[in-house]
Amino acid sequence: KINTNENPYPPSPKVYDALAQLNDQALRRYPPVLWDDFRQVAAKVHNVDPEMIICGNGGDELLTILVRCCCDDTRPLAYPVPTYSLYPILAKIQDNPVIEIPWGKDYSIPNALVETNAPLTILCNPNAPTGTMVELDEVKKLADALDGVLVLDEAYVDFAAGNCLPLVQQCDNVLILRSMSKGYSLAGIRFGYAIAPLRIIEAMIKVKDSYNVNFLTQKIATAALSDREYFQEIRQKICEIRQFLTTKLANLNFKIIPSDANFVFCSPPGG
Ligand SMILES: *Cc1c(COP(=O)(O)O)cnc(C)c1O
Repeated sequence: KINTNENPYPPSPKVYDALAQLNDQALRRYPPVLWDDFRQVAAKVHNVDPEMIICGNGGDELLTILVRCCCDDTRPLAYPVPTYSLYPILAKIQDNPVIEIPWGKDYSIPNALVETNAPLTILCNPNAPTGTMVELDEVKKLADALDGVLVLDEAYVDFAAGNCLPLVQQCDNVLILRSMSKGYSLAGIRFGYAIAPLRIIEAMIKVKDSYNVNFLTQKIATAALSDREYFQEIRQKICEIRQFLTTKLANLNFKIIPSDANFVFCSPPGG
C-alpha cells in the first residue's frame, strides 16, 4: 500500500527496549500533559527551547489545531496546489474558506500566495505528491511578506537535503511541522510535533485536549527520536533506493520530477 508513504523498515530497536521497561504504574496514571521527556530530547536534537515544541496525535492533529486557532468563516486557509489532500478537509469541516493557488514555474512559491495574506498559509515542503522542495531563502521571503502564520509541513523532510528549522528563530510567524510516521517508521503510534515561537505554541496549547498524547505513544516517540544512529542509517538507505528507482525509471523513459521525499512522482512514456 504505497499511497500513505509509510516506511518499509522497522522502527528503532530502542522502541522495544522502552516498551519492555514499562512497569505496572505506567498505564494507571494520566500521561504528561506537556510531553516532558519528549520535549527534552527533541529540544536537544533540534537545538531549540523545549517550550517551543508542541506534540500531537500525528502531524494531522496539529494541523487540526492550527486551523481551529487561525481560521473561521472570514479567515481563509491558503496553500499551493496540488498538495496534501487533508488541508481543504480541515477547513471545510469548520466552513472556512480555502484559497488554492497553483504552484509557480518548476514548483516555486507562486506570487499570488503572498497576495492572499491569509491568516494561515501552509507550504508542504517537500511537497506531496510532487516531492519537490522550496529553498530556505525563498521560504523566508514568503514568511516576511505574510502577516499570518506560515506552516511548513515537513512530514517528508527526513529524506531531504535541507530544512527550514532555522526560520523559527528568525521569524515570529513560522511553524515547522514534523511527523514520526515516515522517517521513523511509526505511523501506527500517531505522533507528530511542531516547533514554533512561544506565542504560537501557547495559543495552540489552549486549544489542545489536556492529555492529548497517550503515554505509550510519548514513550515510543521519545525512544525513537533519541536513536540518531538508527535514524540516519534508515534515512540513508531510503535515499539510496530513491536514487536507484529514479535511475531505473529514467532508463525506461519515464518523466520524473527529482524527489526530496520517500516517493517519486513520475509519468510513463506516452502519458
Ligand atoms: C504523513 C503526512 C503528515 C502527517 O502525518 P501523521 O501521520 O499525522 O503524522 C502531514 N503532512 C503530510 C504532507 C503528510 O504526508
